[in-house]
Amino acid sequence: MPEPRDASVAATPDGGVPAGTNPRTGGQALSRVVFDEAVIARRVAEMGKEIGAAYAEGANLLVLGLLKGSFIFLADLVRQIPRPLHVDFLVASSYGARTVTSGEVRLLYDPEATIEGRHVILVEDIIDSGTTLNRLVPLLRERGPASLELCALLHKRIAEDLVLEPRWVGFDAPREFLVGYGLDHGEDFRHLPYIASL
Ligand code: 5GP
Ligand code: MG
Repeated sequence: MPEPRDASVAATPDGGVPAGTNPRTGGQALSRVVFDEAVIARRVAEMGKEIGAAYAEGANLLVLGLLKGSFIFLADLVRQIPRPLHVDFLVASSYGARTVTSGEVRLLYDPEATIEGRHVILVEDIIDSGTTLNRLVPLLRERGPASLELCALLHKRIAEDLVLEPRWVGFDAPREFLVGYGLDHGEDFRHLPYIASL
């Protein structure tokens, strides 16, 4: 993990614009940039290569992005995977943590793509408690993929009982609330090109 930057650097994440006048955030200050654009781009390029190398030639690859948080990561990632693949998305309902068992997870958008017999990579923005993945993995497995792997941009390393360990992780993340590069706070900040701590 890169060294966390100090607050004075983090205060100017947008090319020297002081955080208080950052036009992207409407002036709201962010406490620090945790992963900047260049660091993210380098890591995503590496991950794309690793994913490309992990499957046999001719493998029927389906990259499934979990919306909304993964949308920017997924868009960058698939452009770094040098092999044929298909892309689809899913949207899971968000119940309160640990109140609903995995069998009861509801998909608000169910991928149109066939999962049976395909090599599926589920792409998540961030793994925190692991609840979301622990619900989704059994549901996807029921559909008979040839293989199922997880790819997460960020992992807080809090979850201890993941039903499936992610095969690819971009960065170990600090246990802070992160925004940007797809991650939101009340739908704000998804469009920031870097990842910041709120
Ligand atoms: P989990 O189910 O692993 O606890 O959490 C997964 C989901 O919670 C993520 O897909 C994301 O939507 C949200 N989440 C967890 N940690 C963070 C965070 O630090 N920042 C933001 N913006 N969302 C988070
Ligand atoms: Mg969210």
